[in-house]
Formats: sequence, C-alpha cells, structure tokens
Amino acid sequence: TISLANRVNALTPSSTLAITAKAKELKSKGLDVIGLGAGEPDFNTPENIIQAAYQSMQDGMTKYTPSGGLPALKEAVINKLKNDQKLEYKNNEIIITNGAKHALFTLFQVLLNEGDEVIIPTPYWVSYPEQVKLAGGVPVYVEGTEEHDFKINAQQLEAAITQKTKAIIINSPNNPTGMLYTKEELEALGKVCVKHNLLIISDEIYEKLVYGQHTHTSIAEVSPELKGLTIIINGVSKSHSMTGWRIGYAAGDQSIISAMTDLASHSTSNPTTTSQFGAIEAYEGTQDTVETMRQAFEKRLDIIYDKLVAIPGISCKKPQGAFYLYPNVKEAASMAGYDKVDDFVTGLLEEAHVAVVPGSGFGSPENIRLSYAVSLELLEEAVERIRLFIEKKI
Ligand code: PLP
Repeated sequence: TISLANRVNALTPSSTLAITAKAKELKSKGLDVIGLGAGEPDFNTPENIIQAAYQSMQDGMTKYTPSGGLPALKEAVINKLKNDQKLEYKNNEIIITNGAKHALFTLFQVLLNEGDEVIIPTPYWVSYPEQVKLAGGVPVYVEGTEEHDFKINAQQLEAAITQKTKAIIINSPNNPTGMLYTKEELEALGKVCVKHNLLIISDEIYEKLVYGQHTHTSIAEVSPELKGLTIIINGVSKSHSMTGWRIGYAAGDQSIISAMTDLASHSTSNPTTTSQFGAIEAYEGTQDTVETMRQAFEKRLDIIYDKLVAIPGISCKKPQGAFYLYPNVKEAASMAGYDKVDDFVTGLLEEAHVAVVPGSGFGSPENIRLSYAVSLELLEEAVERIRLFIEKKI
C-alpha cells in the first residue's frame, strides 16, 4: 500500500460523520429516523435565483471566470457590505470562493507558517481546527463558558496570546451555540486585537438568521482600525438557502486577498460560473425571501425551545441566531442511564430514532446540537421522542 501524507494522518474525521452514517443505515432498514443533524436550510433556493442562473447558461455564460470571481458579483458583494455593514471595500479587497468554507481554507493556507497559532473560541465549528492544522498552524482553544453564553471575553483572549499568535476566529452568530457577540463585547475583544496586531477572521455566514431583539454586528464595523485587521467571511449558503451552489466570499486586506486569489488560480480556477450568476441575483434581487425564511426559522425556534427546556434534565440558553439549539444534556443523559453524552446520543439514535450531533466534536462534551432546519411537525415529534427517551419510556 502507498503511504499517505503526514498532513492527512493528522486529520480528525468529522464527528458528525459517524452519527450521520449510522442514521442512514437505520433509515435504509426502513426505520423512521428523524435527522436533526442538518447544517443547511431545508428550503429550496428562491425561484428568481434559479431563473437567473438558468438564463446565464442560456446566454452562453458557461466558461471560466476570473479566479477571484466575476467583477459583477464582486460589485454585488461590495454593495451588500455597503448597505448592510456600512463598510467600503474596493474590488481588489474581495475574493469570491467556492463557499465560505473554501474562503477559510484558502485564507489559512496563505496566512499560516508552521507553528503559527490561531485562537479558536469553544464551542467551535468543526472545520476550523482541521483547516488550521492542514495549513501547518496550531489551534489554541479558549473556552466560551455556558454561563457566559458560550462567549469569550477580553481577559481570556489576552491570556491566550503568545509570540506565535497570528489570528483569532470570531463566529457570530455561532455554530453550534446560536449566540451573538454584542457591539460592546466586540469592542472589548477588538482592543486586545489592535494592541497585539492580531488578524481577525470574522465568520458571518449566519448573519441573516438572527431572532428577537438581537442584531448582528460585524467586528469590522466597530472602528476603521478593526476593519483593517478583519477578514470578513460570508456567503449565500445559509442566507439564501444555496448550500449546494458553493458560493462564498472573503473581504479585507488587499495583499491577503491577492494571495488567496493566486492560490485559487492554481487550485479551483474559479467558483462555478453558473453559481456566480445565481449569487448576483441573490444579492441584487429581492431580499423578501431571505426574510421569509428567517421568520420561518424564528417561529420554529420559539415553539420548539419551550418544549425542549420543559424536559427534565435539559437546560438550554435560548439561541439568538443561526438554526441550532445547543442544550446541556449531562443530567438528562444520566437520567436515561448514560455516563457520557456521546453514548446518550448513540442510544437516542438507536432506541428513539432521533439523530443529533454530540457536543464533543464542537469542544463541549456536555451538550448536543439539534438543527431546526426541518419541519415543525418533525421537530415536535423529535422533541417528544427525546422526552420519552430520557424518561426511559422508549
Ligand atoms: N462557517 C460556519 C460557521 C458554518 O456553519 C458553515 C457551514 O456549515 C460554513 C462556514 C460554510 O459555509 P459554506 O457552505 O458557504 O461553505
């Protein structure tokens, strides 16, 4: 057999993979498994976007584009950032990528040298540590505790900084917790970043999914100094229900964007042309559909949150954004007869046929992640099954 590269040996397989595979296996045996593991909206892409993409193909726009993306799409992103964040970017400060995930991957590749540290607040999205490691970097975890809404503060950040710290990731609204940093919290963290000249990677992919009185602030909006230190990562996947189209972007320092574009020119060549035309319409067409989807998520959240926290042994901060609930189920697990939440999750799938993601993969092993990107009907049924499972009635 041929041996693989060291960088692959260091890769941790996605923690959600095992449970997803197991859920599929049970489904294929004819069992009615409810999957709450999804990381994508359950709505179809709005019709105007599909039409625009279709039309572009009819018009013969089926060739390569510039590596950094179509100028018209960059322009649409620039206008979006101007309208939503009141931030001005130039054409050479934007790169269009194959999804936000790929924007992050490319960014770490051009940023990190062997041993450079990247601060990752916990709980975190599973791909951050792996992408940092693939680029030769070292993830440094800082704990966002449950009592502080899973967020870190300036003192914690300061304490984690070393000579090797290169960047910090801020993900607000957060996957998996659904929490948002306020403007004041970002100001406090920002001060530390300015003092140490830390690059800020601001993953804002869930920007459009915020609920109640909560609002999204980008750390780049806080001051011109912080704008200069921040690379904004965003895209159309979650806002416009376009996960399969694979369009995201990065906005920030021209020299970083330029290096990312050079790297893309030798790896992907360009994001899919048809998808880019769809994304232009996503940003320039009506935003009513974005709001309609947001409202549907909020309605589900309000209903299902109350039912979830009424279950004995479960405690959960009410999420402020994204489409996940992140309850602490330590006590519920032990009521159901499990010492470890990971085993509780396996039991829940095997006995109650509900698939959720264990928090261990996100850096907080007492929690589980439930996605409410499924119909209300299924959600209600799933939460009822969870209750029965904890009460040992399933
Ligand atoms: N960032 C976070 C926090 C996410 O949860 C996801 C998707 O799950 C992404 C980035 C990637 O989004 P995209 O589909 O645009 O690659």
